[in-house]
Amino acid sequence: MKGLRHNHRMSVLRFDNVSKQYPGGHAALSDVSFEVKAGEMLFVTGHSGAGKSTLLKLIHLSERPSRGAVLFGERNLMKVRGRRVALHRREVGVVFQDHRLLPDRSVFENVALPLILRGMRRGEIARRVRSVLEKLGLGARERALPSQLSAGEQQRVGIARAVVSEPQLLVADEPTGNLDPTLSAEIMTLFSSLPARGTSVL
Ligand code: ADP
Repeated sequence: MKGLRHNHRMSVLRFDNVSKQYPGGHAALSDVSFEVKAGEMLFVTGHSGAGKSTLLKLIHLSERPSRGAVLFGERNLMKVRGRRVALHRREVGVVFQDHRLLPDRSVFENVALPLILRGMRRGEIARRVRSVLEKLGLGARERALPSQLSAGEQQRVGIARAVVSEPQLLVADEPTGNLDPTLSAEIMTLFSSLPARGTSVL
């Protein structure tokens, strides 16, 4: 593969000396550097307020760094502005703590959305959505609305939506927070199968 040297894997995400100060001067991140390579799964841990959600927001471009650079593959996120922000977001699978499901859309439609935005054919969309719902134990819930689901089921719909488009990177903010231990273990097994299939996990 072009660009591979010294047996190094390709970089999927890189933080170079990133600092983030929110208005008011509070430092959420200071001088953070790390890299996620293709085929890797990394865990970020830290106490509440350590800056984990801020990290996610910088990757998703809902916040900008005060200093330093965030690189997604070859893309310097500093240069991603305007309508390109939406295009960038389609390439990163994000599992939010608060799910962010569309309340007036069914489970199926919520999960199908990233594929519809990509212009995928309906038949292919249905096949992929049903396959991922099945894997996450949601096969029987595809017609339900988010409000009709338990917190754990909503969490799994959020995960389904994030992985359905097989993104290069999946970023999950406390993805097993609302799940019982058995389900948590199943989700972690699913996540750990992703790097080998081309999705790095943070
Ligand atoms: P974590 O996800 O690890 O709990 P956060 O990234 O949410 O941490 O928060 C890191 C720090 O930044 C905290 O001290 C928090 O109060 C502060 N912070 C987060 N978001 C904002 C914001 N929008 N405005 C000001 N301060 C914020």
